[in-house]
Order: sequence, then structure tokens, then C-alpha cells
Amino acid sequence: SPSPRRHLDRLAAEGVDVVRVTYPDLIGTDRARDVLLEHLPSACDHGLAFCRAVYHTTPQGDVVPVAGGLDAGLPDVCVRPDLGTLLPLPWEPGVASCLGEVTDPVTGLPAPESPRDLLRTVLDRAHERGLRPLIGPELEYFLCEAAPGSPRGWRRYSEARGVVYTAGLRADHDNHLLRTLRLLRDAGLGVSSGNHEFDGSQFEINLTHSGALDAADRAFRFKAAVKELARKEGRLATFMAKPFADAGGSGFHLHLSCEDEDGANAFDDPSAPHGLSATARHAVAGVLAHAPALAALANPTVNSYKRFGPDTLAPWLIDWGLDNRSAMVRVPPERGAGARLELRLGDAGANPYLLIAGTVAAALLGIEAGEEPPAPLDGYGYDTARAAMLPTSLSAALDALEADTALTDLLGKAFTTSYLTYKRDEVERFRRHVTDWEFTEYAYHL
Ligand code: GLU
Ligand code: MG
Ligand code: MG
Repeated sequence: SPSPRRHLDRLAAEGVDVVRVTYPDLIGTDRARDVLLEHLPSACDHGLAFCRAVYHTTPQGDVVPVAGGLDAGLPDVCVRPDLGTLLPLPWEPGVASCLGEVTDPVTGLPAPESPRDLLRTVLDRAHERGLRPLIGPELEYFLCEAAPGSPRGWRRYSEARGVVYTAGLRADHDNHLLRTLRLLRDAGLGVSSGNHEFDGSQFEINLTHSGALDAADRAFRFKAAVKELARKEGRLATFMAKPFADAGGSGFHLHLSCEDEDGANAFDDPSAPHGLSATARHAVAGVLAHAPALAALANPTVNSYKRFGPDTLAPWLIDWGLDNRSAMVRVPPERGAGARLELRLGDAGANPYLLIAGTVAAALLGIEAGEEPPAPLDGYGYDTARAAMLPTSLSAALDALEADTALTDLLGKAFTTSYLTYKRDEVERFRRHVTDWEFTEYAYHL
């Protein structure tokens, strides 16, 4: 690897004295260590030791026992700063951030559950087919304000209604969006625009499209940055799928296209029906065929399935349509270099690496099999007579993932086993939890 000396001198000249080394765990949480600049060369040479079980630590603090974790005595993973990914953190003066490569300290090989390496594996398979997947992420989130004494401790930042596709003070009284957008730009995350979403306190920010690994890196760092910026203001930004029962959910739409070996858009074909190439049709067919399993990655929490429903603009059925926002896969109207699919399945809570890896894998399986999709949806996309339904629970999606051996072969056994174990533990913990809804529904009447 190139000597860190050059980076070090440049960082010092820029007034940086700490580098935050960040990597995604299994569920996409940003795990990190702040490293003093003078210790960065040693971190690059030897790596930083993290407990491997961090991959399997739930937000409640429980360690989920999976192979290689607790049962193996909580061994290390080695996280090596990737100085090629250095970016400023404009809201934290003196601090720069970079991504870490997660390896096994004994073999030096990528840790099997590392989401970033999983995406690389899937992308290698695409490259073998002469395809370079491009991804444009769109993320929605809710902003909350501290409400000490209230049951959750947080309430919505704004109760404004009817403010979708607006920007400015009427729905965003403290200019949260404008400030965030500028700081994200200064952080080099390649954001392009933002607007208010459907519900009060809900925002959407779009990232420019780029190669799939770079797009995943930026989406991952974007989520961490938005959460940090909100905390800086004493607020909470949440990407969970459906934080409020009386508001819509937050989507993580992915725009997907592929470059061929000549750099041309492999999804565009002016002479084909709808102007979509055979490769694009096969990709759609693959995403539809593997959608139930893909949901386990795109909709990874028990809360995710509360986002789905008729008339939500989130999908409900496994279908595709031409410029149809009620379909799971929408083909936006642009063709030529802009020909692409918009996968609307994912929710903002998804780990960007797993969502993108799963989507590219499903598309690739369709391309390899030469599958054809059904006719595109015409009109209303929530009529259950017209297409199969998505899984309605995380448990069902995990079963679908386990049963989809074509997909799990591509994702690898080590990852699949870890993921299913972690997520089934989550399902079980929720199954045994008694919610407020149950008390209200039953306590007085039964
Ligand atoms: N919030 C919707 C979702 O959950 C998407 C709304 C939109 O089309 O921007 O996917
Ligand atoms: Mg939106
Ligand atoms: Mg969209």
C-alpha cells in the first residue's frame, strides 16, 4: 500500500490532527475509532483491533451468539484505514474521516461478514459479465426534536402538512435541509439536491450516481453524517423505515444502470420495446424473481414491513412499471445515457452495502438466466389480484432468503449464516416484546 506519509503531511498542513476510521457492521451501523494523526502510520501498518462480536451486538447491547463471535471467545477483527477514502468532516474541525478495511487478523483475508467485501464479491461477478453497475441512491429520513418527559423522548421537528416537494422555511422553520445539504457537499459525499417529503419533518436527499461500491460508500457515510449533524443541533435524524404510525415510511430508492465494456449504457436500446435492452429486461426479471429474498436485505427490520401497504408510494406487490411510482421497480422516463431502473423496495434503514449487493446480485442472476419479466404494470399498483405480494414480515423474508439458494450462493455461506442468525434473534426478541398497541387493544376489553 502507498506510504501514509504523503497523506499525513497533507492532513497536518490542513490542520487535521485526528482521523476517524469507520466501517459498516452487519446492520450498517458505522463503527469507528478516532485515531490521533501521529498514530495513523502504525494503524495503517498493523490495523486497528476491534472485537469481532461488534458485528453481532444489537442496539440494545445484547451480543448475538453466532459462529466466530461469543462462542469463539470474542476474537478480534483487524481494521486497516483506507487512506484512499479520506474526506473532511466539516462539522468537526480538525477531524478527517476514512473507511476501514475489515480483515481477519490471522489470515489477513477479508472478514467473511464484512458488508463492503460482500458487495465487492458481487461486483466482481458483474465485471466477469462485462458489466459495471452504476447506482444512484435516494434517501428519506425523519428529523425529531428532543421532548423530555414524553414517552419516546423525541417528537417530530415539524407538523407541517401538504409540503411534499417543497423547500424553505414554511415546512423547515430552522433551515435544516439547506444547512445539511451544504455540509454534506463540503464533506465530499456527492449529494445533488434535497426536498421536503410527504410528511411533516420528513426529508429526502439525493446522491449523484456512480460505480456501485463508491455509491454504497457514500450512502453509508451520508447516513452517519446526517445523524451526526442532527445530534450537533440536539436533534435526532432517523432512517428507520416507519417511525410514526400516522405518517408514511422512509424509502431508500436505488437507481440502477450498467455500463458495458465500451462505457455505454447497457440498459438502453432504442430499437427494443420501451427502449429497454434485453439486459435491462433480464435485470428487471431477476429483481422480481428474487424480491422475497431481497426484502430480507432491503427491508431488514421488524419495523420495515409496516412501511408497506396500499397507497403508500412504498411497494406492496412484486411488479414493475414504466414511470409508475406504485410499482416496486419503476423505469423512469429517461432513455439513452439516463436509461435506468428505480428499485423502490428498500427502506432507509437498510445497510447500503447489503441493499446494493442484493439488488445487483438479483439483477445479475436474471441477466445470467436470460429471464423475461411479465408485461409492465399499467395503472394502479396496489391491486393484489395483479401480482404476488411482498413478504409481510421480516420472518417471512428471512425464510425466503434462506430458500433462495441462487442468491445465497452468490452472497456466500458465511454471510448468510451470520445474517440469518442475527436477524432471527431480532425477530424472536420482538415476538416476545409486549407493545403499547397490544395493551390498548386488549387490556380493557379482555
Ligand atoms: N416515502 C415513500 C417510500 O417509503 C416514497 C415517496 C416518494 O416517492 O418519494 O418509499
Ligand atoms: Mg421521496
Ligand atoms: Mg425515488
